[in-house]
This record gives sequence, structure tokens and C-alpha cells, in this order.
Amino acid sequence: MSYLIRGASPYGGDPADILVEDGRIVAIGDALSSTGAEVVDAAGLIALPGLVDLHTHLREPGREDAETVETGSRAAALGGFTAVHAMANTDPVADTAGVVEQVWRLGEQAGLVDVVPVGAVTVGLRGERLAELGAMADSAARVRVFSDDGHCVADPALMRRALEYVKAFDGVVAQHAEEPRLTAGAQMHEGDRSARLGLTGWPAAAEEAIIARDVLLAGHVGARLHVCHVSTAGSVELLRWAKGRGVQVTAEVTPHHLLLTDACAESYDPVFKVNPPLRTDDDVAALRLGLADGTIDAVATDHAPHAVEDKESEWAQARPGMLGLEQALSVVLEAMVETGLLDWRGVADRMSVRPAAIGRLAHHGRPLAAGEPANLLLLDPASRAPVDPAALASRSRNSPYAGRELPGRIVATFLRGTATVLDGKATR
Ligand SMILES: [Zn+2]
Repeated sequence: MSYLIRGASPYGGDPADILVEDGRIVAIGDALSSTGAEVVDAAGLIALPGLVDLHTHLREPGREDAETVETGSRAAALGGFTAVHAMANTDPVADTAGVVEQVWRLGEQAGLVDVVPVGAVTVGLRGERLAELGAMADSAARVRVFSDDGHCVADPALMRRALEYVKAFDGVVAQHAEEPRLTAGAQMHEGDRSARLGLTGWPAAAEEAIIARDVLLAGHVGARLHVCHVSTAGSVELLRWAKGRGVQVTAEVTPHHLLLTDACAESYDPVFKVNPPLRTDDDVAALRLGLADGTIDAVATDHAPHAVEDKESEWAQARPGMLGLEQALSVVLEAMVETGLLDWRGVADRMSVRPAAIGRLAHHGRPLAAGEPANLLLLDPASRAPVDPAALASRSRNSPYAGRELPGRIVATFLRGTATVLDGKATR
């Protein structure tokens, strides 16, 4: 199938036609023509490289009632993604070559995005001994990102060994930075609001203490460290310090930590319960600036679908986590582009180029240019609509944006030249 995309604005610049054939962009220019190509009218639409998510929970195997590789892949395509890293906290845990290959194959079958499995750092995410990191790296899934996400690799000696081990195949350890002894029973950000609401707090220091420890370890070992979902102003300062010293550290921030604050907890609506918790206005401002100046490398969704019975309960009993794939670009548009902090090239860098580089994905995060793989999206920046959770492709409904009007709508997504989304609808 070939496509002639008419009049799109690559990176928000001057309109141009984009010709896609045999999985590649073959030309970008004025008044292109092609016989037999399907014409896509893209006047007024922005073209960007397909987005890459470093942090997605697809829940399969084990919790197919909350999400499957296929439903999560569809949500990702509808959000403009062409590749997602699937976190390892499934049941069974993705801590062997067998499980990561199973997830990878399910992704191939769904065919909507490249599903890139993340391998667990420790067996069963228990933090006691290392999983088969080398076997997962050598498997068909070619795992390069390892994470116990949902849990912190709290033992510093084990974290050091993991960092040493992944160097052999250019892997990276993605840490969920949470000192567990400081967050026992935590329900929300520790501060004035948690005190007033009577909920146990999750102090910023619990995140910052682990980041400080891990950047020192990564620097000592000379290995790559990636910090998942940074949420505090202090974390941004630590990352800036570590990068200034030449530590190979990268970091991500979620869309919800760029937009929402701990004020949401005042509703006691468990849709706003997430780990790490929503922080303060000052933290949001620091995260936005850190993403704008590149201290934070990437936006990653931490898409965390939950079945109704796990989420619609009392705040204290509800599982932490929220959906993120389908609204990620809209939230970044509101928090970063409309505020003047990032231009469209900056968005492409933080949501495609850098996450692909961190995951060592050679065919994603490529520029929109002739000869490159045709992984791209078309966005209507002028569209504005309230989010309707019932209309989402995810099998779960725990969107923190329900009823909130967000800008931007994904009109089309192409994975290696095949349309996975057209006219705002998934093609399969
Ligand atoms: Zn996490």
C-alpha cells in the first residue's frame, strides 16, 4: 500500500506532501504525485515521527480483564505511538526469555505498534536475585530495557550488579525510584494536603534518595541508568547535577505529572491515585522546565489500566495507576506547546527520538525524511474535545481526564507505511 499525504506540516513547519511506499518515506516535497497511492488530505495537520513509549503496562499475560497486548496496542496507535515498551510486572512476571518472547509475539500478531518487552531486573520482581538478563537480551524480543517497575530495586548491592550486568549488551536499568521504608502505607504526596486529608504521605525524599544513590552507582560502574516517572523538583535538580558530572543517566516524566497536582486528591476520587503520587504546583513547574531544557529526556505514559473492581473503591483500597496512551500527546500539547516551553521539534525529540535512543530502537525516532522508515503520525492541533472514557480503546476506563477538554486529535498513524489509524479510527 502507498499513501500520498497531501499538505501536512512536518514538525509544524511549511506544508508539504509526503509520499509513503513500501514501508518508507520516499519523498517529501511540493505537489508530489503517484499513481495508485491512496491520498490522505492532511491540510492543517501536523506530521511528527511516530511516538515511542518507554513505559506501558499491557497487563497480558495475567490480567487480560484490564488490558491485552492487542487492546493496549490499539490505544497506543490511537495515541500516535508506533512503539511501546511493555513493562514486566505481568503474571507470570516477564523475567525469562519465554515470557518476553510471548509478549513480543502477541505484539507482532496485533500488528498495531511494535511491542518491545521490558525484562524484570529480579526474579518475580522480588528484589532478591537477578533474573536471566542475558537470556532475555539474546531472545527474539532482544530486550534492552530492564525494570522491576511497580517495585524499586531497593538493595544497593543488587542494583550495582544489575548495572554491571547490562553493560555487556548495552542495556539499561530503568528504576522505579521509591525507597520502600519511607513510603510504607503511603496514599498520596506527603505535604500540607495529605496532613489535612488525613492520608499517609509519600515524601519527595523517598524518590530523591534512590535517584541520588543510583546516579552515584551508575557513575561508579559506568553503566546506563534510566529513571522512571520522576515527579519532584528535587529529582530534576539531582538529574541536572548527575548529567553535569557525565553520568550516563536518562529520565522520563509522565503526562499526568506535567498537568495534574495533589489538589486532585481532595476529591477522594481514586482515579487520581497513582505511584509516584501527583505532586505540588512547584513540582509541576520544575518538571516542565526540566523537560524543556532536556534534563528530563522523555515523556513516558506509565499507562496503567485497571479493572473496575480494582479502581472504583475507597481511595485507600484502590490500586494506583491511570490510563495514558490515548491522551499523552494532547496533554503535552497543553502543558508544553501551548505554554511555549517546547516547539514541535522538541515534542518529537522528547516523545520519539530520545525514547527510541534510550531503548536502542534503530527504526523508530527517525527524522521525517526521504529514505526513512514510514513511522509517523498526523495531528489536528486545532481540535478540542472533552475526554470520554467510554470511547477509549483500552479495556479499562481509569482515565484522569474524564470530562476534561484537551487539545489535539490524532487523525492518522502509520507503522512502517501501513495505516494503523485513519480518520481517527484504528484500522484493525
Ligand atoms: Zn513505576
